[in-house]
Amino acid sequence: MSSDVLSRPAAKANVMAIDAYVPGKSAALGIAKVFKLSSNETPLGPSPAAIEAFRANAAHLAVYPDGAASRLREAIGKRYGLDPDRIICGNGSDDLLGLVAHAYLGPGDEGLYTQHGFLEYPIVTRAAGAIPVVAPEKEYRADVDSLLAKVSRRTKVVFLANPNNPTGTYLPFAEVKRLHAGLPPHVLLVIDAAYAEYVARNDYAAGIELAAESENVLMTRTFSKIYGLANLRLGWAYGPAHIIDALNRIRGPFNVNGAAIEAGIAALGDQAHVDKAAAHNQRWLPWLTDEIERLGIKVTPSVGNFLLLHFPHEDGRDAKAADAFLTARGYILRAVGAYGLPHCLRLTVGTEEANHGLVAALADFMGRARG
Ligand SMILES: *Cc1c(COP(=O)(O)O)cnc(C)c1O
Repeated sequence: MSSDVLSRPAAKANVMAIDAYVPGKSAALGIAKVFKLSSNETPLGPSPAAIEAFRANAAHLAVYPDGAASRLREAIGKRYGLDPDRIICGNGSDDLLGLVAHAYLGPGDEGLYTQHGFLEYPIVTRAAGAIPVVAPEKEYRADVDSLLAKVSRRTKVVFLANPNNPTGTYLPFAEVKRLHAGLPPHVLLVIDAAYAEYVARNDYAAGIELAAESENVLMTRTFSKIYGLANLRLGWAYGPAHIIDALNRIRGPFNVNGAAIEAGIAALGDQAHVDKAAAHNQRWLPWLTDEIERLGIKVTPSVGNFLLLHFPHEDGRDAKAADAFLTARGYILRAVGAYGLPHCLRLTVGTEEANHGLVAALADFMGRARG
């Protein structure tokens, strides 16, 4: 046999071209009290009703879950006024993004996303053998004209996080509609609205209306953020029946576990808890923005539950030094060099205690470096 006999299995070249997703840090060595502000989790935790439902599910661990997640889809449909048959649930919305890529992208195809867009998009695009294409942003915001300019004959999917992570910026619904109107009808627009519940802007919409009325729009949502169920892995998507049908054909038969189903239903039933989490964010997002800008750190205006901090480039006060300084104090932020933002850190809105402590630590950092 010839030299093309391999000594061990080789993953496909498109798989090995992927830079694996690196989650936010969660621990600081030797620090007693750690504030994890690196993964956009809610400081309020989940609804107590969701925790109770999770516990009750312990009695049923030997039994397969409902593979269709019917009661959960009905609960989502009821909450948002949607047809449950046009909803698919997933093991986190990451699961659904992967399904989209596998269903609609193949070798030679292009998956389009924005300059500082969520890094799952190039990962799932490459995993499907397709080519990730990046459209420049303006002022750290998705730009409809630059996205449309990057659409080619090979574009099959456009991924738009709205609001975007890690920038926290958003496109008004009119701009999303303009983007959709400019796309050829065979191009799938995926609107990832993971932070929709946090947005308090009159000109914002998560994308339900577009997904309801178009043949080429899918909106994805998650229970990981405001619902506080990141550990359970639960997301959902809403779109035209033909897209939901395609995704259902390739999803894992039991891709959502029973504990997630029960906790998700319970969480949807506790709107007061969601309102409380949104109110907490509305209070602390502007406070953090103002306090941090006062220290001489530029903050990109955010509508999510996190902020993008731009550190000075000078020696001793850059993002890398800040990351080390804050980590030593027990404040874990998210380095975003992989997003093309080496001078930035992303900060999740925390508890009152975490927010005050973080600002005090940042003040020490900036003062220390200056003096
Ligand atoms: C956090 C986040 C998600 C949610 O992912 P899950 O897999 O549902 O936990 C999706 N998209 C963006 C942009 C996010 O920041």
